[in-house]
Amino acid sequence: MNGEDLFTLKTIVSTNPSHPQEVIGRVARADTDAAERSIVVAAQALADWRATAPEERAAFLFRAAEKMREQRLTLAAWEVLEAGKPWREADADVCEAIDYLNYYGQEMLRLAAPRQLGDYPGEVNTYCYQPRGIAVVIAPWNFPLAILTGMTAAALVAGNTVIMKPAEQTSVIAAQLMEIFRGVGLPPGVLAYLPGIGEEVGEYLVGHPRTNVIAFTGSLAVGLHINESAAKTGASQHGIKKIIAELGGKNAIIVDDDADLDEAVLGTVQSAFGYAGQKCSACSRVIVLEHVYEQFLSRLIEATRSLSVGPAEQPHTRVPPLIDEEAHQRVRAAIDTAKREGRVVLEMEAPIEGHFVGPVIVTDVSPQSVTAQEEIFGPVLAVLKVRDFDEALSVALGTRYALTGGLFSRSPAHIERARQEFRVGNLYLNRKITGALVGRQPFGGLGLSGMGSKAGGADYLLQFLEARVVTENTLRRGFAPKQEGNHG
Ligand code: NDP
Repeated sequence: MNGEDLFTLKTIVSTNPSHPQEVIGRVARADTDAAERSIVVAAQALADWRATAPEERAAFLFRAAEKMREQRLTLAAWEVLEAGKPWREADADVCEAIDYLNYYGQEMLRLAAPRQLGDYPGEVNTYCYQPRGIAVVIAPWNFPLAILTGMTAAALVAGNTVIMKPAEQTSVIAAQLMEIFRGVGLPPGVLAYLPGIGEEVGEYLVGHPRTNVIAFTGSLAVGLHINESAAKTGASQHGIKKIIAELGGKNAIIVDDDADLDEAVLGTVQSAFGYAGQKCSACSRVIVLEHVYEQFLSRLIEATRSLSVGPAEQPHTRVPPLIDEEAHQRVRAAIDTAKREGRVVLEMEAPIEGHFVGPVIVTDVSPQSVTAQEEIFGPVLAVLKVRDFDEALSVALGTRYALTGGLFSRSPAHIERARQEFRVGNLYLNRKITGALVGRQPFGGLGLSGMGSKAGGADYLLQFLEARVVTENTLRRGFAPKQEGNHG
């Protein structure tokens, strides 16, 4: 904070989900006093940072991207160890973080030039953007570098000063990001790294009257709570807080009766069980037309059986452990519920040490069951049988969430209907539903999956800015520019 390292008596101990005895790092645990200081520092740094040319602000992002590229494998290694991400996915997360830095840097250059509106004799109208002020970034652990980097970079380059509160589980990776920003010479005070407990420091920052914008990615429950608390406007507050919230999903893939089953099975397995289903975009419901149901199900079970469940650092691992013991217990409880509500047709074994849960496939659950409605955030997939395409669409859309969705079909008419009617934030046709790329598949949900514009898309940066219009009457009368020797 403000260019200084602060030490606290209490610490957060970060451990390896594959080997919980292994300590990855200890970081300071900020309390509300530290959170207050971070706000004071951010407020002091704001005027200079806001006045820094957008090109200069963007240059910090480009340099950070360069540094990150140099450290690509090291950062991925931290993710393998601290977040339990298999190598390929860890590397993809680092690459996504690099993409965010470059993309938002470029976007700021695009938005920076003031625009002249219309062409009216005697009048000049200019439209320009200014930062909102102090931004609080609250991130999840599941894309520990990419999401934190994306939200932070967007807020910074737009000219806001930023307080970054990472998820407890991945505080060490977040510290690496802070080091990268320090390494490129970001002025002290512009960015604070504030590791701590969400309910304590997160809550404090969200409620603080000086906070102007909150960028949150995480669960629906916490997102709704933040939205409510930030809506309360204190007497000393000078603005209404802007909330950007990317939340959960209960994503479905539809398998049509003419789908290429080789592709459909592969796409479903990757979408449901990659990173043990711990992705907001993960498939947790596959809706299959009855004509191909039996064939698809038996092949799905066999393909899933071939996945290797194990420690993240093993190159062949496809299903790593869950992030922590709390997640482990929550997912085990969801599996018990699934057993009561339906028929578990596959429950794979998993190592005892570590927070492992093997892939689970459950059938014969009602579309309204808890299993088919609530986000589980683990390797649990519900398979639902439907009569026809109409019913498939209605089941797919029958949840409160609307983040990602997919369709495997060879019917041009059904593909077109899905384009029109399968209203989710990100729809994927004939491919897996995870792995959105910055700029190519801007990402974000509808319904209770979030509010705000898509991350990695052309509208995202605007959320951290506010527009101003200046109108000047250029038909000046009765005065002249001040000149040397003219004291009139
Ligand atoms: P959580 O909502 O539990 O936590 C997210 C962040 O919020 C953490 O930094 C947490 O801190 C903090 N937090 C917790 N309570 C509060 C509070 N009262 N006030 C302020 N901050 C608080 O989510 P997870 O980290 O478990 O992430 C998983 C969830 O994120 C899933 O639901 C997933 O779908 C969603 N997600 C959505 C994405 C999207 O783009 N739509 C992308 C990725 C994930 P602490 O760590 O201390 O608890």
